[in-house]
Amino acid sequence: MLLRHTTNKVADRHALTVNPAKTCQPIGAMYAALGVHSCLPHSHGSQGCCAYHRSTLTRHYKEPVMAGTSSFTEGASVFGGQANLVQAIDNIFTIYNPEVIAVHTTCLSETIGDDIAQIAAKARESGKIPEGRYVFHASTPSYVGSHVTGFAGMTRAMVDYFAEKCGKKRRQINIIPGYVEPSDMEEIKRIAKLMDIPAVVFPDTSNVLNGPQTGKYEMFPKGGVTIDQLKTTGDSMGTLGLGKLASGPAAHALDTKCKVPCQVLDLPIGIKATDRFVDALRSMAGVNVPDDINIERGRLLDVITDMHQYFFGKKVALIGDPDQLISLTEFLVSIDMWPIHIVTGTPGKKFEKRIRELTSEIPGPVNVKAGGDMFLWHQWIKNDPVDLMIGNTYVKYISRDEDIPLVRFGFPILDRAGHSYFPTVGYRGGIRLLEKILDVLLDRQDRDAPEESFELVM
Ligand code: SF4
Repeated sequence: MLLRHTTNKVADRHALTVNPAKTCQPIGAMYAALGVHSCLPHSHGSQGCCAYHRSTLTRHYKEPVMAGTSSFTEGASVFGGQANLVQAIDNIFTIYNPEVIAVHTTCLSETIGDDIAQIAAKARESGKIPEGRYVFHASTPSYVGSHVTGFAGMTRAMVDYFAEKCGKKRRQINIIPGYVEPSDMEEIKRIAKLMDIPAVVFPDTSNVLNGPQTGKYEMFPKGGVTIDQLKTTGDSMGTLGLGKLASGPAAHALDTKCKVPCQVLDLPIGIKATDRFVDALRSMAGVNVPDDINIERGRLLDVITDMHQYFFGKKVALIGDPDQLISLTEFLVSIDMWPIHIVTGTPGKKFEKRIRELTSEIPGPVNVKAGGDMFLWHQWIKNDPVDLMIGNTYVKYISRDEDIPLVRFGFPILDRAGHSYFPTVGYRGGIRLLEKILDVLLDRQDRDAPEESFELVM
């Protein structure tokens, strides 16, 4: 209802966000932590934060997401949360017995200034962390950044705490997959395997948040990178970080700490970005690209050729996370669609510059904003309507109000399933994305077609 009052007059706003296009840092940190085998994420703050983070992840992945909380009340808010965290660490190892606890902070504990490394050291000294078990942490105050920077921070912490260099190179490549679905992480591993490249993918939520129904609940499912694997990352031949914002910090930290050379690439969404990923894998590992991968690429090319007439010149509005939007924009432009309104809630000027470069050939104006919100995006759409919207579940309200088709993509998707099981990265993921786009465009065409043009065959 509120959206119906959205005006098309865009006002200059600095101190007000209306309908944010991002969520808070700890959600990303919790998601990254779930990609470590036998890890219990722990929220150092009040119960409300933890409940919100868990419920958002549970609703998106349709799996129960477990996490501990330091359960701050008035006392901890005034005197600091050390006693709560030490007690929590003791309880968690005693009751749930994970291999590792990944602590992230919240707005409150950051404002108090709790020093998590010092508290974890104290817990170890006082025997609360059993032998062979670990606690690591990331700082994730939510008054800066977004869920993507929270993910990046926790992934970087995996390097800071665990990567070791023993001096003997291993024939393996580290792949930091970025803030993508479990299905995407699985696809990235599959591509590396097809190329006969041993890979340590971290974090890896496949088989954690998209595992099979066995009838038996497992608090710590089979998937996830192990601490032993993380330790070996310092001896790998190289690191590929996918997505500058989500994976760049960990890739560079590994280079600095253990001198593992890294390349930070775009997320492999779409044909060009996947080409660059496959080529980087090929040259880093010194292997040839197998026929199976060439066949997958050829299929994507065939779908693009067959469907191009429906994509050409269609205007698209995109909203979501920077790494995804950069690759998605490139993909859409490569199939002659015109992304003209692009907003991410995560701040960062480089994003705007990159999108401007990618859309420079599009006829007509292109609106782009980092640190923007859904309200502004909606206003842009009112002023220059589009044929298609791509964004998360919250876009459905704007889609209904404006009667414009929506493809759900990104985080969170609370009202559909499938995203955890079918990838959108790689050549096969590209085919899936195109299928989703084509479906909504042709459904729309069919719905609007007069009787005499209501075609059975496309
Ligand atoms: S924004 Fe801050 S206070 Fe709110 S849920 Fe996130 S961490 Fe907690």
